[in-house]
Amino acid sequence: MELVAQGPYRFGIERHGPMRVPGVVFASRELLRDARQSLEQVANVATLPGIVGASYAMPDIHWGYGFPIGGVAATDVAAGGVVSPGGVGFDISCGVRLLAADCDAQQLAAALPDVMDDLDRVIPRGAGPGGVWHPRGEGELERILEGGARYAVERGYGEERDLTRCEDGGAVADADVSQVSARARERGLGQVGSLGSANHFLEVQQVAQVRDAAAAEAFGIREGQVCVMIHCGSRGLGHQICTDHVRAMDQAMARYGITVPDRQLACTPVDSPEGRAYLGAMAAAANYGRANRQLLAHAARQVFRRAAGARLTLVYDVSHNLAKIETHQVDGDRRRLCVHRKGATRAFPPGHPELPPDLREFGQPVLIPGTMGTASYVLVGVAGGDAFFSTCHGAGRVMSRHRAARAVTGAELRDRLERAGTAVRPLSLRGLAEEAPEAYKDVDAVVAASEGAGLCRGVARLVPLGVVKG
Ligand code: 5GP
Ligand code: MN
Ligand code: MN
Repeated sequence: MELVAQGPYRFGIERHGPMRVPGVVFASRELLRDARQSLEQVANVATLPGIVGASYAMPDIHWGYGFPIGGVAATDVAAGGVVSPGGVGFDISCGVRLLAADCDAQQLAAALPDVMDDLDRVIPRGAGPGGVWHPRGEGELERILEGGARYAVERGYGEERDLTRCEDGGAVADADVSQVSARARERGLGQVGSLGSANHFLEVQQVAQVRDAAAAEAFGIREGQVCVMIHCGSRGLGHQICTDHVRAMDQAMARYGITVPDRQLACTPVDSPEGRAYLGAMAAAANYGRANRQLLAHAARQVFRRAAGARLTLVYDVSHNLAKIETHQVDGDRRRLCVHRKGATRAFPPGHPELPPDLREFGQPVLIPGTMGTASYVLVGVAGGDAFFSTCHGAGRVMSRHRAARAVTGAELRDRLERAGTAVRPLSLRGLAEEAPEAYKDVDAVVAASEGAGLCRGVARLVPLGVVKG
């Protein structure tokens, strides 16, 4: 794939074959070293009906189902633009929540082993069932699917700020539970308030450096402070919804005269029965994901109170696997677009009306996990942000799980991390090895490329103190 340098950290893929728009890749050449297959995916996405602007890729791009992870694509709803479940991914509304503690790392040091042991005990994880909350049957599951984090807070699992500081106020209004299959419900019922498997985690971190003091203060973080980062999504429920609706769209596509270069890009118009059905089910999974992170945050709060006498306050919660109907300026007009962000984070600029009043002047917080052995970041959206106000979502994988597990044993990795001062509480040593820091790109380089491309600005750099892994 020919990449044409277009500016700092910006490359173009010229239109060729059935591409309707060009590709735009934000990265350095170094970050794209092994990206050949995922760049082909960027070109494939550019063929989708109704796509506007370009098919975008973030610096943490890597291969995914149909769309690359780190891909952003927007389609024009009024012009027959499509929605594609592969543009959201199997873990619908996977995302990150950051909480700030009212103590510094030094103050926590003595209690940290107890905090980690308690978290190890109370945070449900692994691939199967298990969750901190057992809904009373399907009726209550539907309330979670419709009410998201809002329902969890109403039931006493949180506080008002948990909603004002969550994307969409903790819940989207357009969930359609009738589009969630019996199998998806069954999988969802037993996993409310659980992390899932290895790439998902709960990490105790320390703010190592503040790069934008005014934004950091508004977000509620300062140097030295202890934070808790939670990364998880919608578990088996989201996975099943993706599976069900990919199948339905794959069967329906021909009726709309749509052909795609890869079956994994199955899609139908946003404004079609199949498109609406998917978006309604996806919204239900998004609410499930927010409720899931809300309940895990509640469990972490109880541990911190009990073991360290510390309080945790929400900084922000944002998804990185979601499609949203948003209005953007395209070629001089305001248009309703279906913006797919898959392994990419929305990054609204300062002044955006959807931001809570206390953050509006600064822009939207963006939460970027790195790895359990390196740094993680808090960034902020900037005026003029490209790719429909989107940026990276993590460091991005470079090594398959299988290869990572061959490169290092879980026991070696645990010892290495513990020696470096990070407490490790894995569910399985094999799962730990699959998530070894060397399996990921250099998060500092990914963040530098995202900033250099004008997608966001750095606010704070965090380092791990302890990690609870799925
Ligand atoms: P994904 O959503 O693509 O599964 O993961 C998002 C990002 O999380 C990855 O690209 C990686 O950078 C990061 N990540 C995976 N495991 C850990 C961990 O244990 N700790 C931290 N801080 N980040 C992680
Ligand atoms: Mn996920
Ligand atoms: Mn994720």
